[in-house]
Amino acid sequence: MIAVLGSANLDLVVTVDRAPGRGETVTGRTFTTVPGGKGANQALAAARAGGDVTLLGAVGDDEFGRRIAALLTASGVDVSGLAVNELPTGTAHITVDGTGDNSIVVVPGANGTVARLTDAHRTAIDAAEVVLLQLELPLPLVEEAAAYARSRGVRVMLTPAPAVPLPPSLLAAVDVLVPNEHEAVLLAGVADPVAAARALAASGDVVVTLGARGALRVNGATTTDVPAFAVEAVDTTAAGDTFAGVLAVGLAAGLEWPDALRRASAAAALSVQRPGASSSMPDRGEIDAFLAE
Ligand code: ADP
Repeated sequence: MIAVLGSANLDLVVTVDRAPGRGETVTGRTFTTVPGGKGANQALAAARAGGDVTLLGAVGDDEFGRRIAALLTASGVDVSGLAVNELPTGTAHITVDGTGDNSIVVVPGANGTVARLTDAHRTAIDAAEVVLLQLELPLPLVEEAAAYARSRGVRVMLTPAPAVPLPPSLLAAVDVLVPNEHEAVLLAGVADPVAAARALAASGDVVVTLGARGALRVNGATTTDVPAFAVEAVDTTAAGDTFAGVLAVGLAAGLEWPDALRRASAAAALSVQRPGASSSMPDRGEIDAFLAE
């Protein structure tokens, strides 16, 4: 099993020709609502790829939370560890302007209340082969979960996003760190992403994702290229979450690293060819068919 401890949000997306200035009102073009949050995204990607997945976190007792839970359940994610509490479901308020640039306000809401590891979290972690973490829940909780999983011999995978400086004790408890190049550079304080990955690999595996250039796995002194598949990208939203979720499925199933990485790259390549986050994630059959081409 894969235990994902992470955020669940509803993304409220507005498109405008030009973003409003201070005190200004503009008329928008479109409005859409899309379930998101890195925890929910990674859980969905992993479940679609055939993983046995539980999402641990919280939503509010509201329409947004029920919608997210329904989508996760329909994709086979166990949501019994997704608490329903008194704050509203987390939201991301996203304005995309005519040039494709965006500005985002995130309100953590219920996500911010997941402050301590509960007995239910511990039970789920005990049953998992891999615990998948990101940084959209309070940092002390992420630290506690990583330390607990490590103490139980459960593999810890962390996507360090949004990027913040991390305590060395957290990095030391992580078996597989999956930053994108921006996050790797910020975490290591080294300008070159490859050198950054090498600096971060002291305590385990680092897989740094490089967008259309693929990824690199660094393990000790060994660096392995993970080529991207050549595809026509239309929307790279959640490519990294798809990659991480599917990598977790491969590692939890006991695949060798090269096979697990190839499946993660294939799933991410499929996802960038379709718009949206959750709506773009491939299922296991699509990944198999793509790899057989
Ligand atoms: P993030 O979304 O976290 O910034 P990246 O942009 O690095 O992550 O993408 C994650 C992975 O998705 C890459 O390692 C690669 O395998 C795949 N990917 C991203 N963009 C493309 C693309 N244009 N073509 C093919 N694969 C891609």
